[in-house]
Amino acid sequence: MLTFNEMGLSPNLLKGIDELGFKKPTTIQQEVIPIFFETDNDIVGLAQTGTGKTAAFGLPIIEQIDLQDKSVQALILAPTRELCIQISKDLQSFSKHINGLQVVPIYGGASIETQIRALKKGTHIIAATPGRMLDLIKRKVANISYIRTVVLDEADEMLNMGFRDELDAILERTPDKKRTLLFSATMPKEVARIAKNYMDSPVEIVVGKQNAGAENVRHIYYQVHARDRYLALKRIADINPYIYGIVFCRTRMETKEVADKLIKDGYNADALHGDLSQAQRDSVMKRFRSKSLQMLVATDVAARGIDVDDISHVINYNLPAELDIYTHRSGRTGRADKSGISIAIVNYREITKIPTIEKIINKRFEKLLVPSGAEICKKQLFKLIDKMENVEVDEAQIAPFMDTVNKKLEWLSKEQIIKHFVSLEFNRFLDYYKNAPDLNEKAESRGGKSGKRDKRDGGARAERGNKRDRGAYTRFYINIGKKDGMNPRNLIGMVNEYTKNRDIDIGEIDLKDSFSFFEVEEKHRDKVLKSLNNKDHKGRTIRIDIAEEKDARRKKGKRKKGTKSQKRRAKK
Ligand code: AMP
Repeated sequence: MLTFNEMGLSPNLLKGIDELGFKKPTTIQQEVIPIFFETDNDIVGLAQTGTGKTAAFGLPIIEQIDLQDKSVQALILAPTRELCIQISKDLQSFSKHINGLQVVPIYGGASIETQIRALKKGTHIIAATPGRMLDLIKRKVANISYIRTVVLDEADEMLNMGFRDELDAILERTPDKKRTLLFSATMPKEVARIAKNYMDSPVEIVVGKQNAGAENVRHIYYQVHARDRYLALKRIADINPYIYGIVFCRTRMETKEVADKLIKDGYNADALHGDLSQAQRDSVMKRFRSKSLQMLVATDVAARGIDVDDISHVINYNLPAELDIYTHRSGRTGRADKSGISIAIVNYREITKIPTIEKIINKRFEKLLVPSGAEICKKQLFKLIDKMENVEVDEAQIAPFMDTVNKKLEWLSKEQIIKHFVSLEFNRFLDYYKNAPDLNEKAESRGGKSGKRDKRDGGARAERGNKRDRGAYTRFYINIGKKDGMNPRNLIGMVNEYTKNRDIDIGEIDLKDSFSFFEVEEKHRDKVLKSLNNKDHKGRTIRIDIAEEKDARRKKGKRKKGTKSQKRRAKK
């Protein structure tokens, strides 16, 4: 195994990584760095975040930069602004002792003028999101005709986010003679297409299995009714009093809703999603990093750039629409040799997706029962006792008060004092979980029995996030599907754009090959129908209809046909 010293990195670069505490190269660095230096090969790396892939491409790129040459020499494309900023920061840290090396992050949603000024000053390396990058190339502010290296980082994620056209347009503008590196956690067809079209017999490196992170992650699922998701989430948080985790939601609205409820219920949580300003996001992330925040409720997109090593739990509030994304989510825990737990809260429909995910992650899920109120109370009690045992007692400060305290408590026995003390903090749990129902979904309780269950609901009933609470939803049919490049992000974007309303809550999205279904709050039904119908989606005219009505019409049509054939049979 080569050390960083033996890899041919210059002393100033070695000094930078030494200061970061990197002792030995990670597996992907072991593989990529020598190929980079010793051959001209393109490289495909199947690797998740947490494997050290930024340094795997970053260190040799920095090493090969000609500081005298003021043109852009390397372009790194990544799916989100957070990741671009992270990559830039990492590269700047690695090259701290290399004077004059410039790295500029370029991403959408921020002032383009500032970025134009930064580019005009000259930079050796750009880390960019594809949309903004293409914009700046077209404006002739960014010149990529002299680049020697292109990196496509988290290629699957860039494609999931609908950047296919931008990637094609950018890659077509790069010089023929260059090296291309592609990193992806998974290898769906679209990523393979990019590799085939733009790379020259690449060397393939797979570090997924050796990735200690993935090995250290336990995958667990709890099966509950869809309406009990939030209650299950609370129980998961309560049975893990020291949780430090990310709760993944599908939409911005859901993220807000779940975070708001958690905050209202006294949990140490906050939301991270695309509707927040950069300053708000930074503030949430700062609190999460410093552990002042225990639970971060986030959308997949917002969470992409999160670079925190000791996350204990990843919770899938529901499964991602694209199952590949589960790998990204669970890869947020079990990093840097620590163990982690990835939890999925699933209903009976989603349960069928578990075997597919097991194939993707090459690991089995454990089915656990949602903890009962009694189990949670026991756990919380131990936490309290633990805290009491470990509290630092400042003898000197407390001594002058002890006489009075002892006198005041004289009438209580030791046992009674303990009971009083425990009840002080513990009553809220006892109250809340008194008569709490079993949340585990059983085959016989699927659908239709909510009335009975509600009666047993006790203290938990008030917080049930059922359909009535969140308002009714309308299910729409749309004639655009995966084949047309549709993904949940596009679909939500389309609804936002055509209705000119970003606050429409979108429920379940069900993408098929050539059409899709999605749910929208009922109060926006007519607006959505009117705004989307007959609009254009990449050259196709959008047809949208209410799913139930469409189904009913189909059935009606079938019935009519049946009548005709019956008539024909009758004639014969
Ligand atoms: P990445 O996969 O690039 O996001 O890196 C994951 C984490 O591993 C980051 O916090 C890096 O700073 C850290 N890291 C990368 N390479 C090494 C190394 N050779 N030794 C120790 N930590 C590393």
